[in-house]
This record gives sequence, C-alpha cells and structure tokens, in this order.
Amino acid sequence: MALVNEHFLKLPNNYLFSDIAKRVNTFKVTHPKVDLIRLGIGDVTQPLAKAVTDAMHKAVDDMTTKENFHGYGPEQGYNFLIEAIIKNDYAPRGIHLENSEVFINDGAKSDTGNIGDILRHDNSVGVTDPIYPVYIDSNVMCGRAGTLENGSWSNVVYLPCLMENNFIPEIPDKRIDILYLCYPNNPTGTVLSKQELKKWVDYALANDTLILYDAAYEAYIQDPNIPHSIYEIRGAKKVAIEFRSFSKTAGFTGIRCGYTVVPKELTAATLDGERIQLNKLWNRRQSTKFNGTSYITQKGAEAVFSPEGKEQIREIINYYMTNAKIMKEGLESIGLKVYGGENAPYLWVKTPDGISSWKFFDQMLYEAHVVGTPGVGFGPSGEGYIRLTAFGEREDCKEAMKRLKKWING
Ligand code: PLP
Repeated sequence: MALVNEHFLKLPNNYLFSDIAKRVNTFKVTHPKVDLIRLGIGDVTQPLAKAVTDAMHKAVDDMTTKENFHGYGPEQGYNFLIEAIIKNDYAPRGIHLENSEVFINDGAKSDTGNIGDILRHDNSVGVTDPIYPVYIDSNVMCGRAGTLENGSWSNVVYLPCLMENNFIPEIPDKRIDILYLCYPNNPTGTVLSKQELKKWVDYALANDTLILYDAAYEAYIQDPNIPHSIYEIRGAKKVAIEFRSFSKTAGFTGIRCGYTVVPKELTAATLDGERIQLNKLWNRRQSTKFNGTSYITQKGAEAVFSPEGKEQIREIINYYMTNAKIMKEGLESIGLKVYGGENAPYLWVKTPDGISSWKFFDQMLYEAHVVGTPGVGFGPSGEGYIRLTAFGEREDCKEAMKRLKKWING
C-alpha cells in the first residue's frame, strides 16, 4: 500500500489566487457587461525585449544544425550565462563569485520551494509577515512548519511587518535556524537599507542562522543606497543563499529562467557538529533532480545583459515604475495610505476605517470594478491591507485610479 505524504493534507485547501478567481468569476457571471481592471496577480504585461527574442530566434536556428545543436546541457547552467550574471550583476558591486557558485534554474519559485531538500526537517523557520506564500507552503509539505494553530504554523516564527514598524522586521530575541527574507518585498513593496540588512547578516552570523534571500525584484530598485544583493553586506557569503529571477527583471514569467547563488563559504551543521558546504549539497540535489534550463532560454537570458538588452529592459522597468508612481499619487490623492511602489512594482494599501482585506477587495470589485489582492492572503499581518501591482497597462492604471477616486470620494 502506498502511503501519502500526510504533511500535504495540512495545507489549507484554498490557494489565494484561486479564491480570488472564484470571486471574480462570480462577479463576471452576474455582471457580464462590466469591464474589470485587474491589478491583482503579479504577472507582467509587456512583451519580451527584442534583444531577447532575437537571441532566442538565433538559438532556435542553432538547434537546426549538427555543429550547433545542443542536447542536455549542464544541470547547473551554461557558463556563457553564468559568466554574464557574475560580470553584470555581481562584479560591479564588488562581489566576487566563482562560476560553480551560481546555479541556473527555471525560475525562483522552484528553488525557493526546493531548497528545503538539503535542510533537516526539524530546523526552525522564520518568515517576515506578510510573505510570498511559497516559503511557508513548501515547509509545510515536508513537515518543517509544524501544525496550523489559529492561522499560524507552530514551528514558524512570524516577524510582523506593519506600518507601525515601517515594515522593517524586528530582530527576534531567539534563535531561528532558517530565515526567509525577500527584498524588495512582495507583497509590501518595501525595501531594507544597507544598515537594516546588515543587522540581519550580523544576527545570522551570531546565531548560525541560514538566510534565504529572495531578490526576485532587485531590478526595480531606484534608490542607489538600497542593496541589490545580500552579498553587498560583509560576511553574508557565510550565511546566505540568494535567489534571483529573470521573470520580473525581463518579462520571463512565461519563458522561465532564474538563478540561485550558493557561496562555497556557506556551511551548515550535521547533528554531530560537522560543517558541510551547502554548495556541494545543492549541486548534488540539482544534478539528481533537475536537468537544466533549455539552451534557447539561457541564450535569451544572456541577451538581457547585452547593451541593447540592458537598454530595452530598463525601458520596460521604467514603464512599470511610472505606473507605480501614477498609482501611488492617485491613491494618496484620495486619502489612502500607500506603502511601497518606489523601489518595487507593488503598492501596499492600508484599507480605510479598519475594513478587512477581503471586505475591501469585494467592495473594490463590485463598486469600482478593480481587482486587487487581499493582504491577509499573504499572512496574518497582511490583514487590513490590499496589494496592487504596477504590472498593468498604463491606460488601465490611469482608469483604475479614476474609478477608485469616484468610488471613494463619491
Ligand atoms: N519570489 C517572489 C518574491 C515572487 O513574488 C515570485 C513570483 O511572483 C517568485 C519568487 C517566483 O518567480 P519565478 O518563479 O517566476 O522566477
């Protein structure tokens, strides 16, 4: 008899976005003629940069000739892409990495979800709250999160990020084995300064904590003083794994490519106290369970770093960040409190008069015909907030602001 992994049964049935889809569908059935504006799900809307598609077309042509055909590639990724990443994303910030410290993947979701494979099931876990749900759910699946009690997992330490603390998590007064940090943050759109991030690196060094640092939105940072990589902080290579993605940087949500940095200095302990290089374990894990990202995809990703690629991608990011500015100003002009949106494509909006996230979501859907994401879906501290994304079309963003103005101001 095959037995199931019963930890899966602990997962709450409804996933946030399917819940939203259900409510939106109900609305559409009862209001078939209404044109909805969707500022909820964080997918991009602008097409790929020409430099990327040109490179991908050329890579397809490569596959048609015997000399340039590519079959299985290295599980860790091709050196042409790894070298472009190191040269463009890390070296200019004074971060030295070896090729074998960078692992190309099919997007950050896979690796942020799979990294737990190389860590014991009984490590304690810390998360900022609200949070990208994959971190918690992937820990639930292997039993590491414990049991769900009053909406919180028993083996997870929640670090509230609220307007009261400026969305900066407080350093906990106890040890945490594994800590997830995501900056620029999804869903709050907030960032950490170098000084704030240094506090976390120092905490990790002092407590032997492993930081899992998700920098999927680093390309949206506008302020030159905000760190793009955790390795900008001295000592971070000893304590942190960093995840990055081409999804939001270059519109690869449908192409699928990202990368994970596992420095060789980074170790974790066995029960006997022996220190083990996590780079070795992750390499073994990837070689066994992953067969590499396609050559065509990696060629497209490499083109992100070409001079034309950089310029075209900068334009797309500017487009989204201009949306964010328009939305932030629009929302503030109608008296709403808005966070984020300055170094990230997300706006985190406080619901007025203490209205719950879901109630505000429903009201916005039915009265303004705008779809957002209820903050409580990202964790208990998200209650009383709603997330809007700047990934929409410019005209939709403007129209959404008009509708919200009319709805709120009457
Ligand atoms: N990390 C964060 C914080 C995200 O918001 C997302 C996607 O929305 C991802 C990772 C996953 O991105 P991808 O798998 O497309 O690289």
